[in-house]
Amino acid sequence: MVRIYSKARDGEVKLAPHFAVREFACPATDEVLVDEWLPAALELMRGYIGDKPLRVTSGYRSPAYNAAVKGAAQNSQHILGTAADVTSAGVPPLTLCRAAEAALERLDIPGGIGLYDSFCHVDMRERRARWETTARTGGAERACSGWSASALPDTEYTVRPGDTLSAIGKRFGIAYMDLARYNGIADPNKIRAGQKLAVPAPKAV
Ligand SMILES: [Zn+2]
Repeated sequence: MVRIYSKARDGEVKLAPHFAVREFACPATDEVLVDEWLPAALELMRGYIGDKPLRVTSGYRSPAYNAAVKGAAQNSQHILGTAADVTSAGVPPLTLCRAAEAALERLDIPGGIGLYDSFCHVDMRERRARWETTARTGGAERACSGWSASALPDTEYTVRPGDTLSAIGKRFGIAYMDLARYNGIADPNKIRAGQKLAVPAPKAV
Protein backbone atom coordinates (compact mmCIF):
# COMPACT_ATOMS: atom_id res chain seq x y z
CA MET A 1 0.00 0.00 0.00
CA VAL A 2 1.23 3.46 -0.88
CA ARG A 3 1.06 6.06 1.88
CA ILE A 4 0.98 9.80 1.40
CA TYR A 5 3.14 12.11 3.52
CA SER A 6 4.00 15.79 3.64
CA LYS A 7 7.68 16.67 3.30
CA ALA A 8 7.24 19.72 5.58
CA ARG A 9 5.19 17.98 8.25
CA ASP A 10 6.50 14.39 8.16
CA GLY A 11 10.02 14.86 6.79
CA GLU A 12 11.74 13.38 9.83
CA VAL A 13 9.26 10.51 10.30
CA LYS A 14 11.17 7.22 10.20
CA LEU A 15 9.75 4.65 7.78
CA ALA A 16 12.49 2.15 8.68
CA PRO A 17 15.40 2.40 11.16
CA HIS A 18 17.65 4.17 8.64
CA PHE A 19 15.13 5.83 6.30
CA ALA A 20 13.03 8.94 6.86
CA VAL A 21 10.25 10.42 4.72
CA ARG A 22 12.42 13.31 3.46
CA GLU A 23 14.76 10.85 1.74
CA PHE A 24 11.96 9.82 -0.62
CA ALA A 25 10.72 13.38 -1.25
CA CYS A 26 10.37 14.89 -4.70
CA PRO A 27 12.32 18.15 -5.17
CA ALA A 28 9.30 19.73 -6.87
CA THR A 29 6.46 19.11 -4.42
CA ASP A 30 5.57 18.74 -0.74
CA GLU A 31 3.54 15.57 -1.23
CA VAL A 32 5.56 12.37 -0.79
CA LEU A 33 4.20 8.99 -1.87
CA VAL A 34 5.97 5.95 -0.42
CA ASP A 35 5.03 2.31 -0.79
CA GLU A 36 5.05 0.78 2.67
CA TRP A 37 7.39 -2.04 1.57
CA LEU A 38 9.98 0.17 -0.10
CA PRO A 39 11.74 1.36 3.10
CA ALA A 40 11.72 -2.24 4.40
CA ALA A 41 13.39 -3.41 1.19
CA LEU A 42 16.02 -0.66 1.40
CA GLU A 43 16.68 -1.49 5.05
CA LEU A 44 17.34 -5.12 4.10
CA MET A 45 19.59 -4.05 1.21
CA ARG A 46 21.53 -1.86 3.61
CA GLY A 47 22.17 -4.91 5.78
CA TYR A 48 23.16 -7.08 2.84
CA ILE A 49 25.88 -4.65 1.75
CA GLY A 50 27.41 -4.65 5.22
CA ASP A 51 25.38 -2.05 7.09
CA LYS A 52 26.64 0.70 4.82
CA PRO A 53 24.64 3.90 4.28
CA LEU A 54 22.33 3.68 1.30
CA ARG A 55 21.56 6.97 -0.39
CA VAL A 56 18.25 7.45 -2.20
CA THR A 57 19.15 9.64 -5.18
CA SER A 58 15.58 9.63 -6.48
CA GLY A 59 12.44 8.41 -4.71
CA TYR A 60 8.97 9.79 -5.31
CA ARG A 61 8.54 11.98 -8.38
CA SER A 62 5.48 14.08 -9.11
CA PRO A 63 4.26 13.47 -12.68
CA ALA A 64 5.46 16.96 -13.70
CA TYR A 65 8.88 16.42 -12.15
CA ASN A 66 9.22 12.97 -13.72
CA ALA A 67 8.41 14.42 -17.14
CA ALA A 68 11.41 16.73 -16.73
CA VAL A 69 13.80 13.91 -15.73
CA LYS A 70 15.99 13.00 -18.68
CA GLY A 71 15.43 9.43 -19.84
CA ALA A 72 12.68 8.72 -17.29
CA ALA A 73 9.87 6.39 -18.33
CA GLN A 74 6.53 8.10 -18.81
CA ASN A 75 4.81 5.54 -16.59
CA SER A 76 7.72 5.44 -14.14
CA GLN A 77 7.29 3.57 -10.88
CA HIS A 78 8.72 6.69 -9.23
CA ILE A 79 5.41 8.48 -9.92
CA LEU A 80 3.61 5.78 -7.94
CA GLY A 81 5.93 6.09 -4.93
CA THR A 82 7.03 2.48 -5.29
CA ALA A 83 10.58 3.09 -6.52
CA ALA A 84 13.97 4.29 -5.36
CA ASP A 85 17.26 4.83 -7.15
CA VAL A 86 20.04 4.08 -4.69
CA THR A 87 23.79 4.39 -4.39
CA SER A 88 26.29 3.58 -1.67
CA ALA A 89 29.82 4.97 -1.55
CA GLY A 90 32.32 2.36 -2.73
CA VAL A 91 29.64 -0.24 -3.52
CA PRO A 92 29.22 -1.13 -7.24
CA PRO A 93 25.63 -0.84 -8.56
CA LEU A 94 25.85 -4.54 -9.47
CA THR A 95 26.27 -5.42 -5.79
CA LEU A 96 23.29 -3.20 -4.98
CA CYS A 97 21.23 -5.14 -7.55
CA ARG A 98 22.23 -8.41 -5.87
CA ALA A 99 21.23 -6.96 -2.52
CA ALA A 100 17.92 -5.85 -4.06
CA GLU A 101 17.32 -9.41 -5.31
CA ALA A 102 17.92 -10.75 -1.82
CA ALA A 103 15.63 -8.13 -0.27
CA LEU A 104 12.75 -8.71 -2.70
CA GLU A 105 13.10 -12.46 -2.31
CA ARG A 106 12.94 -12.14 1.45
CA LEU A 107 9.84 -9.92 1.26
CA ASP A 108 8.31 -12.16 -1.40
CA ILE A 109 7.77 -9.23 -3.76
CA PRO A 110 8.38 -9.76 -7.53
CA GLY A 111 9.41 -6.14 -7.95
CA GLY A 112 11.57 -4.37 -10.50
CA ILE A 113 15.35 -4.03 -10.42
CA GLY A 114 17.38 -2.04 -12.91
CA LEU A 115 21.15 -1.87 -13.17
CA TYR A 116 22.57 1.49 -14.26
CA ASP A 117 26.16 2.69 -14.54
CA SER A 118 26.00 4.77 -11.37
CA PHE A 119 23.02 3.45 -9.39
CA CYS A 120 20.52 0.66 -8.84
CA HIS A 121 16.79 1.15 -9.35
CA VAL A 122 14.49 -0.94 -7.18
CA ASP A 123 10.69 -0.93 -7.09
CA MET A 124 7.80 -2.86 -5.57
CA ARG A 125 5.78 -3.68 -8.72
CA GLU A 126 3.72 -6.84 -8.71
CA ARG A 127 5.03 -8.18 -11.99
CA ARG A 128 8.70 -9.10 -11.97
CA ALA A 129 10.98 -6.97 -14.16
CA ARG A 130 14.77 -6.97 -14.44
CA TRP A 131 16.81 -4.87 -16.82
CA GLU A 132 20.17 -3.32 -17.49
CA THR A 133 20.76 0.15 -18.90
CA THR A 134 24.50 0.69 -18.88
CA ALA A 135 27.45 1.42 -21.15
CA ARG A 136 27.59 -2.35 -21.68
CA THR A 137 24.15 -2.28 -23.30
CA GLY A 138 25.07 0.83 -25.27
CA GLY A 139 22.86 2.90 -22.99
CA ALA A 140 19.75 1.02 -24.16
CA GLU A 141 17.43 -0.75 -21.77
CA ARG A 142 17.89 -4.50 -22.06
CA ALA A 143 15.77 -7.01 -20.17
CA CYS A 144 17.71 -9.64 -18.24
CA SER A 145 16.98 -12.54 -15.91
CA GLY A 146 18.25 -10.85 -12.75
CA TRP A 147 21.21 -11.13 -10.42
CA SER A 148 22.26 -13.92 -8.12
CA ALA A 149 21.93 -12.95 -4.49
CA SER A 150 24.32 -15.77 -3.60
CA ALA A 151 27.11 -13.80 -5.27
CA LEU A 152 26.80 -11.19 -2.53
CA PRO A 153 29.91 -10.89 -0.40
CA ASP A 154 29.76 -11.78 3.28
CA THR A 155 28.71 -8.98 5.55
CA GLU A 156 30.96 -8.25 8.50
CA TYR A 157 29.00 -7.54 11.64
CA THR A 158 30.53 -6.32 14.88
CA VAL A 159 28.67 -7.61 17.93
CA ARG A 160 27.23 -4.82 20.09
CA PRO A 161 26.62 -4.99 23.85
CA GLY A 162 23.38 -6.85 24.50
CA ASP A 163 23.32 -8.60 21.12
CA THR A 164 22.34 -12.24 20.93
CA LEU A 165 23.11 -14.54 18.05
CA SER A 166 19.42 -15.13 17.45
CA ALA A 167 18.70 -11.37 17.31
CA ILE A 168 21.54 -10.88 14.84
CA GLY A 169 20.32 -13.85 12.80
CA LYS A 170 16.80 -12.49 12.74
CA ARG A 171 18.05 -9.16 11.51
CA PHE A 172 19.87 -10.72 8.57
CA GLY A 173 17.34 -13.48 7.92
CA ILE A 174 19.60 -16.34 8.96
CA ALA A 175 18.97 -19.07 11.53
CA TYR A 176 21.22 -18.51 14.55
CA MET A 177 22.57 -22.08 14.31
CA ASP A 178 23.65 -21.43 10.72
CA LEU A 179 25.31 -18.21 11.84
CA ALA A 180 27.09 -20.08 14.66
CA ARG A 181 28.25 -22.83 12.31
CA TYR A 182 29.42 -20.34 9.68
CA ASN A 183 31.59 -18.61 12.28
CA GLY A 184 32.80 -21.72 14.05
CA ILE A 185 31.06 -20.76 17.27
CA ALA A 186 30.61 -23.85 19.44
CA ASP A 187 28.29 -22.26 22.02
CA PRO A 188 25.73 -19.87 20.46
CA ASN A 189 25.16 -18.28 23.87
CA LYS A 190 28.75 -17.14 24.04
CA ILE A 191 29.37 -14.10 21.90
CA ARG A 192 30.98 -10.90 23.13
CA ALA A 193 30.68 -7.23 22.21
CA GLY A 194 33.30 -6.25 19.66
CA GLN A 195 33.52 -9.75 18.21
CA LYS A 196 33.38 -9.76 14.41
CA LEU A 197 30.99 -12.12 12.69
CA ALA A 198 30.84 -13.03 9.03
CA VAL A 199 27.21 -12.97 7.89
CA PRO A 200 26.76 -14.95 4.68
CA ALA A 201 24.57 -13.75 1.87
CA PRO A 202 21.00 -15.01 2.27
CA LYS A 203 21.19 -17.87 -0.22
CA ALA A 204 24.76 -18.91 0.46
CA VAL A 205 23.93 -20.83 3.66
ZN1 LIG B 1 14.50 4.61 -10.95
